[in-house]
Amino acid sequence: MTPFESKTDPSQIPPAAAVCGLFCEACAAFIASQEDPKRLSFLAARMGQTEEDTYCEGCRSERRSKYCRSCTLFACATERGHAFCGECTEYPCPEFESFRQERPHRAEIARDMERIGVAGAQAWVAQARERYMCPECRTINSAYDLKCRTCGHDPSTPFVAEHREAIAERLSRQ
Ligand SMILES: [Zn+2]
Repeated sequence: MTPFESKTDPSQIPPAAAVCGLFCEACAAFIASQEDPKRLSFLAARMGQTEEDTYCEGCRSERRSKYCRSCTLFACATERGHAFCGECTEYPCPEFESFRQERPHRAEIARDMERIGVAGAQAWVAQARERYMCPECRTINSAYDLKCRTCGHDPSTPFVAEHREAIAERLSRQ
């Protein structure tokens, strides 16, 4: 893939459109931060950190989780003046590739980077919402909610329908 020019004024990029191509609104930490304090404390305990360090409002927000504050992809892109990894001449670099392969919820970030390049960040956010939305009740679910967290629909989202096996395998190891 050749690097793309960002179609979106950087100040207009939605906070939940991550530099790496992840969609923050479908992150368990983001969902917990926005609407579920009990889930936030559960996640914090599982990660062995405080709720404050788990709380996140998205990649480009003022309040990011500890993990996302230390993200090397974000730091690298910022330093190089790129809004997205896909704008870089070195994309996909080994670091991006190992990040992508590390967890099943990152399975589509290369595909998403292409979508961002074609559609622009704002249009892509609308596409991503559909990808992580329950077809029954339209709740946004994380990649690790195999069933919809609101209505129990199984699978929870089109994303989960496609990646269920890898996600279930990952969950079984936690
Ligand atoms: Zn639902």
